[in-house]
Amino acid sequence: MKFVDIPGADFIKDKLIKSIGSGKIPHAQLFLGNEGALNLPLALAYTTFLHCENRQDTDACGACGPCSKSVKYIHPDTNFVFPVGNMGADKDEERVKADRLKTFRSFLLEQPFGNLDDWTSFYGGEDKQVLISKDESREIIKSLSLKPFESRYKIMLVWQPEYLHSSAANGLLKILEEPPPFTIFLLVSNKAEKLLATILSRTQLIKVPMLADEELSVFLTEKKKVELQKAKKIVHLAEGNLNQALKLIDTEDEQSSEWFFNWMGACFQHRYDKLLLTSEEFHQLDRLSQRNLLYFSLSLVRETLLRLAGAGTINRVQGNDMERLQKLSVLLTVEKIERIQFLINEAIFHLERNGSAKMILFDSSIQLAKVINPSKP
Ligand SMILES: [Zn+2]
Repeated sequence: MKFVDIPGADFIKDKLIKSIGSGKIPHAQLFLGNEGALNLPLALAYTTFLHCENRQDTDACGACGPCSKSVKYIHPDTNFVFPVGNMGADKDEERVKADRLKTFRSFLLEQPFGNLDDWTSFYGGEDKQVLISKDESREIIKSLSLKPFESRYKIMLVWQPEYLHSSAANGLLKILEEPPPFTIFLLVSNKAEKLLATILSRTQLIKVPMLADEELSVFLTEKKKVELQKAKKIVHLAEGNLNQALKLIDTEDEQSSEWFFNWMGACFQHRYDKLLLTSEEFHQLDRLSQRNLLYFSLSLVRETLLRLAGAGTINRVQGNDMERLQKLSVLLTVEKIERIQFLINEAIFHLERNGSAKMILFDSSIQLAKVINPSKP
């Protein structure tokens, strides 16, 4: 990963680059951003820049020996610490560790903007708890006692330190108090409130905002060659979350809105037979499509709310959908819509925690039917 691969965040890139120029690199930095912010890619690009032997004004050269290793995430002076569940029954610890790292590198190569859910599905551990274990903290200390192999710096990139086992967190704290020379800690977190205050106070905070709509739109149309009209829709749905936006590229809009209106119709009519069938079909889809459908539904519900609030001229929805949305908004009130949003969000929450998709959708449908059309016996 290089800075040029990451849209937006110019201010942060600039600051990171300048800190190296000035020779005052903080030994512990916390890249903090909400779910969907580009804090991990930025930390990765920063490591590439730090190791580069021929740094340019705005980015790593991308061509030197260290760069060619960094972009494959195999630089020996970049250590990755990340949460993981049990990946298999192998008893050989060394082999397990090597496998994990290899898998994590492939994940970064394939989904550099991925989140924790993407990571757990990548190695097939969706149904297991993830953690950065106590052993992992011992590993950190062990590898820090070694001098850098090739680079001037030894980088310890801790992704999602909020998943540190408490004793691992204490171990980390000790190192942060007295860091070995030329060691740089990059903590990449979505939830600062879950970190120990003492860890927070020892790190320099780099706040990474979500992408602006314009930045996301340019990325989609120029880098991903998405057609402008479709890009606009995706930008609206993704709310600055690049990872989400990339997933939405493959979602068929027409099919999704067809699905949504049929679902709402069946809820309104209290057609439980239909709703059961819908839930069964939903169950057959892969996790990503299920999630996308619900996110898409949320966006249409939000659009209905905007219409009710008299902001219908924003006109993000077009043609046939507009007509159906109009019909739906007649049936609803602001209170009902808020309740619907809550229920769909709740369904997404349970889906992301790997409940049965069929049960989740059917259960939400029953509750939605009561909300949308309470007068029907
Ligand atoms: Zn280079």
